[in-house]
Amino acid sequence: RRGGATEPRHRVFVSARVRPVLAGEVALHVNQRKAVQADFVRNVVSVWLPPSSRFSQTPEKTKRKTFQFDQVFDGSATQGQVFNAVAAPIVDAVLQGMNGCLLAYGQTGAGKTFTTFGPPRARGKTDSMTTQLGLIPRAAQALFQRLDDKVDSTRAAMRRQRLRQGGEGRGFSYAMYITYYQIYLDSHIQDLFEPGKRDLQIRLNEDSSRTTHQVDGLSVHRVTCVSDVLALLDKGERNKVVSQTAMNATSSRSHCVFTIQLVQHVHREGELFTLRSKMTCVDLAGSERVNRTHPQGLQLAEAKSINRSLSALGNVIAALSTPGQTLSGSSSLDESEQSEGFIPWRDSKLTRVLQESLDGTAQVSLVINVSPDAVNVQESINSLLFGRRSMSV
Ligand code: ADP
Ligand code: MG
Repeated sequence: RRGGATEPRHRVFVSARVRPVLAGEVALHVNQRKAVQADFVRNVVSVWLPPSSRFSQTPEKTKRKTFQFDQVFDGSATQGQVFNAVAAPIVDAVLQGMNGCLLAYGQTGAGKTFTTFGPPRARGKTDSMTTQLGLIPRAAQALFQRLDDKVDSTRAAMRRQRLRQGGEGRGFSYAMYITYYQIYLDSHIQDLFEPGKRDLQIRLNEDSSRTTHQVDGLSVHRVTCVSDVLALLDKGERNKVVSQTAMNATSSRSHCVFTIQLVQHVHREGELFTLRSKMTCVDLAGSERVNRTHPQGLQLAEAKSINRSLSALGNVIAALSTPGQTLSGSSSLDESEQSEGFIPWRDSKLTRVLQESLDGTAQVSLVINVSPDAVNVQESINSLLFGRRSMSV
C-alpha cells in the first residue's frame, strides 16, 4: 500500500467513486461478478472486462484490471463520507489562506454533478436533499461554521480583554464571495449568474508575487450563509439549462467552474492583516470518446475541444504530481524554465483559469467518477487511467 509515513505525499489527492446501479438500470454481470468493483478497504477499483463472446469464454479467461487510488468509494458511500475524505482537507487549506481545487472527472452519467452539487433540488428543501447535498454546498457549510465560530470566539475574547485592560485586543471578520461560469468549446466563457455575459476573456494577472490568469468581468456574489449558496446554485443551474438548450448543446459538453473566494481580516494590536484564498470546484465535461457514430460539425468541434482541454488538464496534473520532472515536448523552452519543472498551463483555457487553483501550495483533489455498468467498462477504464496518471510516479 502506498503513502507510508516516510514517503512524500503526492500533492494531488486522487479518489475514485463508483456510483450505485440506478433504478431502472440493468447492471450486466461478468461471470456472476459486478463489472466494476470498488474495494474501499484496499482502495482498489477492479474492472472485469466482459468476454467478447458470452458463450466461448471460460471464467478463467475473463480479464481483470485493477487501479489503486488514495481513496475509493463504492455505491454505498454517503456524500458526507466523500466530503470528509475528499473536500475537508481543501476546506482546511482555504481557511489557512491557501487555494484549493476539487475536480470531478468521468463520462456523462457517471456521477460528477451528483458528487459536486448533489442531485437537482426538487421543490424546497427536504431531509433527503439535505443528506444528499454535494461537495460544494457542504464545503460552504463547513467554511461558514468554522468562520462563524472564529468570529464568536474572538468576540468573546475581546470582551474579556476589554473588561480586564480596556485595550483594543484582537478581532476577526470575513467575507465570502462566489462565482459560477462555464467554459464551452474551450473558447466561450459564460457567466452562469449573468448569462448575457457569454464571451468573457481571460486576463493575465501579474501581481507582485506570481503570474496567474483570471476571468475578466465575472459577476461576483457575496454570500453570508449556506442558503445564499444554494439559492445561487439553483439560479446558475437554471441559466445553464436555458443557455445549453439555446446552444443546442447537451448538458455535459462544457466545464462548469464554481469558486468560493474567502477574505479573512485579522485585527491585531491595531494592525489589520488580510488573508485571501479561493476554492475552485470543477464539474468537468463528459470525458467519453465520441466515436460511436461519425460526429460532424458542432458535435465534432465539441468532442475535439473537450478532448484537448481534458488532456491539457491531465498533462498539468501529471506534471504537478511529478515534482522536478520536465515534460517531454517542452523543448522550445529555455533550460532554466525546464529545470524548474515545466507545467503546460497555456495549452487550454481550462488549465489557464485553473492555474492559481492548482499550482504551488494549493490543495488539489481529483475524483474519478465511474459507472458500475458493464456496458461502460471501456469508458470507465479510460477514466481510471486518467486518475492513475494523476498519481505520483
Ligand atoms: P454526470 O454529471 O457525471 O453526467 P450525474 O451526476 O448527473 O452524472 O449522475 C447520473 C445519474 O446518477 C443522476 O440521476 C444522479 O442522480 C445519479 N447518481 C450519481 N451518483 C449517484 C450516487 N452516488 N448515488 C445515487 N445516485 C447517483
Ligand atoms: Mg453532469
